[in-house]
Amino acid sequence: MADDLTSITAAPLVDKFGRSISYLRLSVTDRCDLRCTYCMSERMQFLPKSDLLTLEELDRVANVFIDRGVRKIRITGGEPLVRKDIADLFERLGKRFGSGLDELTLTTNGTMLAKHAEGLYQAGVRRVNVSLDSIIPERFAEITRRGNLQQVMQGIEAALAAGLKIKINTVALKHQNADEIPSMVEWAHGLGMDMTLIEVMPLGETGEDRFDQYLPLPMIRDELDARWTLTPLPKVDANGGPSSYVRIQETGGKLGFITPLTNNFCAGCNRVRVTCTGRIYMCLGQDDHVDLRAALRDTPGDNTALNEALDKALGAKPEKHDFRIERPGAAPALPRHMSTTGG
Ligand code: SAM
Ligand code: SF4
Repeated sequence: MADDLTSITAAPLVDKFGRSISYLRLSVTDRCDLRCTYCMSERMQFLPKSDLLTLEELDRVANVFIDRGVRKIRITGGEPLVRKDIADLFERLGKRFGSGLDELTLTTNGTMLAKHAEGLYQAGVRRVNVSLDSIIPERFAEITRRGNLQQVMQGIEAALAAGLKIKINTVALKHQNADEIPSMVEWAHGLGMDMTLIEVMPLGETGEDRFDQYLPLPMIRDELDARWTLTPLPKVDANGGPSSYVRIQETGGKLGFITPLTNNFCAGCNRVRVTCTGRIYMCLGQDDHVDLRAALRDTPGDNTALNEALDKALGAKPEKHDFRIERPGAAPALPRHMSTTGG
């Protein structure tokens, strides 16, 4: 695809604050087989399938980003593995290893990982983030409103057996998993998996009050600090990631903290997000976006309009987000769900 629609000479993507964009999060669907209480409502309305970018369009967008300096792509959603043609997308994108792309990865809830683990590895994926908020079956079912923990555990097992490195992402929830975090850390590190804790973000209506769910991570960190020996790790900013990491001496593993509410980490942000309908969002915490779909559909054989749309989007990347969860019952900071933008 990149060869016939070439944009290789196009300038690298640098925003007006001098941040180079090397990381794309590409959402392939807004659908999901789970309904996590902090992410979406039980009656979440999904987009009509005809609104989604086709496989060819997703491939084309990704290739244009790679041609302009993106070296890492994370496939996300919704749940990326519920999309029927997802294996083809990984296979296609895997062809860009060695010609621009350094890393292809995904964030998944793990329910369909057993089916896909081998194919992902074959396509060149080496690291996968699995989101998991409890390792107690009843709680897992409650948080996800329908999930089967055993299915996810089988997915994790299959992924590790296929040679994939896994990081567990856990949203810290005041009433639903706060007491379980130390045992989750022990479990993850015992299987050689790093783990990252995330604060709940006020994105989209869920039918639940986020004030009731939000647990500031500095509190958890203090608790873990009292229990174990935590050594802060230097920020190796290769991925411009928002986590700050510690090594836990007793478990030997790494634990990250993502604190969008208690701390702002935007200064080194090197990423943009493209939704499954082709909107590019320059910041998870702001609503400004540029629609790439017209540029994609109106000029199928030429990437000029697409590149112009990317330039416009980059010009509008804000300096930082402004999340707050201030009081009980407050409306979400943004109406958009994380599952729509791609978490
Ligand atoms: N379905 C996949 C999964 O759960 O890994 C990928 C998409 S999901 C939107 C990506 C990540 O966003 C997950 O780790 C999830 O826990 C997180 N997430 C969703 N809504 C969130 C919110 N309101 N605040 C913080 N994290 C959220
Ligand atoms: Fe689905 Fe992921 Fe949202 Fe949970 S966090 S409902 S798994 S998209």
